[in-house]
Amino acid sequence: MRRTLATILVASTATAALGVSVAPSPAKPGPQPPPKVPTATGYGGAVSSVDPDATAIGLDVLRRGGNAVDAAVATAAALGVTEPYSAGMGGGGYLVHYDARSRRVTTIDGRETAPAAMRSDAFIDPATGAPYRFTPDLVTSGVSVGVPGTPATWETALRRWGSLSLSQALRPAARLTQRGFVVDPTFALQTKENAERFRTFTSSSDLFLADGVPAVGSTFRNPDLARTYRQLGAQGTSWLYRGSLGAEVAATVQAPPLSGDTDLPVPVGDMTRADLARYRALVQAPTRVGYRGLDVFGMAPSSSGGTTVGESLNILEQSDLSAMTTEQALHHYLEASALAFADRGRYVGDPAFVDVPTRDLLDDVYAKERACEIDPAAAAPKPVPAGDVRSYDGVCDAPATEEVQPDTRGMSTTHLTTADRWGNVVSYTLTIEQTGGSGIVVPGRGFLLNNELTDFSTVYDPADPNRIQPGKRPRSSMSPTIVLEDGRPVLALGSPGGSTIITTVLQVLVNRLDLGMSLPAAVAAPRASQRNTANVTAEQAFLDAYAATLTSLGHRFAVAGPPGSSASEIGAVAAIELGPRGRMTAVAEPTRRGGGAAGVVRPTLGR
Ligand code: GLU
Repeated sequence: MRRTLATILVASTATAALGVSVAPSPAKPGPQPPPKVPTATGYGGAVSSVDPDATAIGLDVLRRGGNAVDAAVATAAALGVTEPYSAGMGGGGYLVHYDARSRRVTTIDGRETAPAAMRSDAFIDPATGAPYRFTPDLVTSGVSVGVPGTPATWETALRRWGSLSLSQALRPAARLTQRGFVVDPTFALQTKENAERFRTFTSSSDLFLADGVPAVGSTFRNPDLARTYRQLGAQGTSWLYRGSLGAEVAATVQAPPLSGDTDLPVPVGDMTRADLARYRALVQAPTRVGYRGLDVFGMAPSSSGGTTVGESLNILEQSDLSAMTTEQALHHYLEASALAFADRGRYVGDPAFVDVPTRDLLDDVYAKERACEIDPAAAAPKPVPAGDVRSYDGVCDAPATEEVQPDTRGMSTTHLTTADRWGNVVSYTLTIEQTGGSGIVVPGRGFLLNNELTDFSTVYDPADPNRIQPGKRPRSSMSPTIVLEDGRPVLALGSPGGSTIITTVLQVLVNRLDLGMSLPAAVAAPRASQRNTANVTAEQAFLDAYAATLTSLGHRFAVAGPPGSSASEIGAVAAIELGPRGRMTAVAEPTRRGGGAAGVVRPTLGR
């Protein structure tokens, strides 16, 4: 049965259309945070992100005639100011773009790369012969820093599709960081949680701990970053990739500015200017799967986002979830994602280095065979084995191969979604990996370096597609997604959250497309993440609602993080739904991470 999103949208418009737009800052002395609203409906363009200042900047770009790509870069640069521990020019990310004129979806892989001199045993402590303690030792290091891809992503996106220059797109963020933003509880908490790591480096403690942990409500300024953005705008990214900023980055990775105030070991890295000069953001085709009459586009490897979300959807399409009880549908969702994660672990890595069977993983026949593993009445013991992409025929009973190790790391990153009045859409996830990245600020430049290389497997195994190799991109889970119906975008979304990114995007799609929820309800709904581990990680609200029934089917649960901590939440979605006649509904989190910020250029309701 074909159920179009437009049909579903009409049914749920009443709950979806409650929002208002982000208003400009009131005229009071000193910076004030714009109001945060989780849902905004209207016309003329939309932005959704985790942060009200960043969303306001993106909307302003759209109001002044910028397009979705201009707004995405300006919003991302602003997130580098207000969310410096999640994203910024020292990191990488993946951008998915729908071009209204050509009706094509194209992606940019702006993932960080390993230096040419990176050794396969880089994460083994030579003193002990055993792997470094992951947190805080390995993550706080030069050896974990990959060549940043974010500046190249911004420049590539603007050159191909933007109407602003890099300098124009960075200007609002430069002004924001010069003027300062109001410290919210999340920023204060993240600074506190990273204090030991920041204290390890003179540059980081000077920037983030100058007067101790910044107080909630105080103004945080970063004039170094303002200068950096201005110079990057003026000189272009060759300042980083072939110029003096690159030399500073390489020197910082090779000899981080140690304060001597902590005992962290800080293994150094081997990044050189030549590594920076070799870096390219890659413009490449998206993944695509058909799902219930819609086309779902995502990020191809080096991210595992597109293949894992796509394979899960293909498996789920073998069943009519909309005819099931919510618990039955969730059972299928959990089982499908476990199967897709088994294949992710077995097959997905950087395609420049390993042969990734992307076509097989997204083949409906393969999915049909994988779906045989789902018992509607009982959860399979986890971990489930990977399937065999070399031989499948869609018939049940196929032999399985070996088991895979689950991947459970990571909980930071940020996502933004933009749409413009011409129908262009951007779905963009960017990160510096860990909250606080490597903990190392480039001295005098105001931004943190990533620790993305810890996304490689720690211990070298020649059969592992995600093993360390020089010049390689570590496997990501980032899943920026755009859904089309009859060639036009109807939904775009993404999330942070390490490997839970995949399940968060999948769960919101299932909530919206199969379970009849409005987009705001689909985003707000309690989350659970099955990444082929013995226990499903779930938010407390999910356990309260569904654990009894799902446990009776054999699922085992672990509550996500300690209550009240940021780890108790899974993901932070930013999404936009595009309805008929240019109507847009921007949706951010109502409560997770303190709530996100959605806005539209011309709101339907409100002011
Ligand atoms: N580095 C992670 C990835 O690329 C994202 C970091 C996170 O969300 O925690 O999959």
